[in-house]
Amino acid sequence: MAALDSYDTMSINSDDEERPLMSLFMKLIDNKQSMVLTNAQILNILKIEFQMELSYIHELEKDIYLQCMKKFLNDWPRWDEFDEIASTMRTKQNTQGEKLKQYYNDLKIYLNRKLFEVKDLIHESIKDVVNKKEVANYDKDVVLEIRSTRSQLNELIFRRPHPDLHNSIFNIPGTPTKITVCGTRTIASIINWPSISITLNAYHMTLKRSMVPILKHKLINKKLSQLKSPPEKLNTHIQMKDLKVTSEHDKDKFLKELKLQNNFVICSSDIEKTLFSTLSNIIYTDLKTTPNLSLPAILRKKIPNYPYVRYLFSEVTTSKPLPDSNNYDLQLEETMIPQWQLSLRYDTKLCSDLGITVECGECNVSFAGAKIIEHFEEMHQAEPDWQCTKCDKTFDAICLSDSGWIHDCS
Ligand SMILES: [Zn+2]
Ligand SMILES: [Zn+2]
Repeated sequence: MAALDSYDTMSINSDDEERPLMSLFMKLIDNKQSMVLTNAQILNILKIEFQMELSYIHELEKDIYLQCMKKFLNDWPRWDEFDEIASTMRTKQNTQGEKLKQYYNDLKIYLNRKLFEVKDLIHESIKDVVNKKEVANYDKDVVLEIRSTRSQLNELIFRRPHPDLHNSIFNIPGTPTKITVCGTRTIASIINWPSISITLNAYHMTLKRSMVPILKHKLINKKLSQLKSPPEKLNTHIQMKDLKVTSEHDKDKFLKELKLQNNFVICSSDIEKTLFSTLSNIIYTDLKTTPNLSLPAILRKKIPNYPYVRYLFSEVTTSKPLPDSNNYDLQLEETMIPQWQLSLRYDTKLCSDLGITVECGECNVSFAGAKIIEHFEEMHQAEPDWQCTKCDKTFDAICLSDSGWIHDCS
């Protein structure tokens, strides 16, 4: 009878979708030759006839079930009887509905009993393999490039394949979403926000402070045990880029001059005045440990001693059952090293475009300093918390940026 050890060929696209085994019988009556079932068809039989959803179980377990089912189907003791009946039906062009139903019930009872017998055995045999939870080899990891806004990225990954969306793990909203309101921001938090650049064009002085965080993303399954690597101790020394030095400057003198610019920078509003004074205080702190400056200069510094990490994901909301919840908890691990970059320059001639300009790298826009609060209120309200990779403490993103990405790590 049915040769069931090959995976491809003939489809038994069911006339009787409710009862794939009955459909199998009908096909066998129609086609005298033996029938080859695909793995998908066997999975369909298990799902519909025996309410066993195997799509999400461990591959090995699924494979054992498939092999067992092939054997059980082959071994059904009544195939010879069925073949006789089938051939009668075929020649007489007459379908004996009642008889067929009996065979159908008998095959179903037989398979059900067999499946019941092996269920625990299969579960037991693969337990060790599943519990071993192979750890991925990160050297060979697949790299996926994704272009998205920050708010899309925060919600990009479903914790498990979404049954309503062809089991996709990617949450791709139809329309771009905005992050919604919560918390109050300080100007310091904005200046320290990842990918914000502030340019100050003052008399005889140009200064640009940018946040250039180092971000890494990795898709992980929290249901697999991950080898937690020890936190990476960062080199927090100030790095200087070699530029053609045109003047040597005492750092304190430079900072004093920066403060004096307050009188000259054209601040069109109170917001710009606060922005300017907060920015100069932050630069003061940035340069606290710097030796003397040679201008023009480009300096860079990783701020904390250890990176921060957070896990981004979206919950799956569906009315369908989630039989795979033991296998998946997908999350996008985002690691960040906050880092600032300063470029400082004295200009011999008067700068023509005095004022403060802000660039937001996340939104890819630039605007006058006076608009900074408005931009953040509209585009950057809430963000997931960050966790320190060294002390495991969790911090609100706004508070952390307000404190310049520094915390008590004891
Ligand atoms: Zn923005
Ligand atoms: Zn810490």
